[in-house]
Amino acid sequence: MSNASALADQLAELLSRERDAMAEFLVALADFNRRRAWAELGYSSQFWFLHRRLGLSKGAAYNRKVAADLIERCPDVLAPLRDGRLCLTSVVELAKVLTRSNVAEVLPRFFHCSRREAAEVSAAIRPLERPPLRDLVSTAPAASTATPMAAIRDNSVMVHPDEPLLRVAPPTTTRTIPLTEELRRLHVTVSRRFLAELDAARDALSHSHQGATTESILEVGLDLVLARHRERRGIGARAQPSARTAAAGRLRAEVKREVWHRDGGRCQWPIEGGGICGSTLRLEYDHVVPRGRGGTSHAANIRLLCRFHNQWTARAVYGDEHMDRFTTSVPRASEPVAA
Ligand SMILES: [Zn+2]
Repeated sequence: MSNASALADQLAELLSRERDAMAEFLVALADFNRRRAWAELGYSSQFWFLHRRLGLSKGAAYNRKVAADLIERCPDVLAPLRDGRLCLTSVVELAKVLTRSNVAEVLPRFFHCSRREAAEVSAAIRPLERPPLRDLVSTAPAASTATPMAAIRDNSVMVHPDEPLLRVAPPTTTRTIPLTEELRRLHVTVSRRFLAELDAARDALSHSHQGATTESILEVGLDLVLARHRERRGIGARAQPSARTAAAGRLRAEVKREVWHRDGGRCQWPIEGGGICGSTLRLEYDHVVPRGRGGTSHAANIRLLCRFHNQWTARAVYGDEHMDRFTTSVPRASEPVAA
């Protein structure tokens, strides 16, 4: 055997081991996720565990999270991942279109595809199989809190045969490209309705912001959203302690302000090995010593927690059975899709 072909054999052997190791990793990750072990270590999702604890880039973490979730729902995906017919970067596209009823037909179409080829295959399949985009239009509070949590409560069932096995957020709709140190170009996919509203806002602002650019119109809107958010959090100027707030035992605005600034607007839940969760999403004020156990509402006993960790700690204090009477959401199953 020539030296070159011996080297080629060695490379093939190494590659095969790499694929085996990756498949083993994904199986172990699916198991880790099934136990919600990441939550025990302080992380608010599988994705953040992969990114922060294992040091994977966000893209690499996301691909592995989707692959492990898909293997959990459709074990047929594992063999082609292991033998190299299916590559990890194609899995996100596959997950968009794979359903219980189309596995035999659809899975082979992704074999030996590059990421771009996989995107083309999924785009060709999706118009026929994509369910209505109801997630995007529904803003009713009752539906948005109850339905998605119920749907992910048990991730192995409740999937219609023709529904995609995984809900994959469409990350391609928003993209930023750095132009200079300060400037970014933002690509956003929007509806015609959005454009009509943008024009209406431009008209509405024509007196105060004559000739406003799209950026400045959107900035005005963002300012309003953030001002309202700060007000709700008690960190705006208008928030006042009311009799109703005091009677209900809720936190006074100055306590909220103090806690918010002290905690830097981030979830303070400690993660394994040091550091904090640090999430800025859906933050809530948490009593370190619960009120029911004599905890006060002074700033020293209040901390910021994200929704996930607030419910996690409530379950630790009061138990699952008690909490299930008050909430349908299950932190164990909470799963932000991407950063
Ligand atoms: Zn958190």
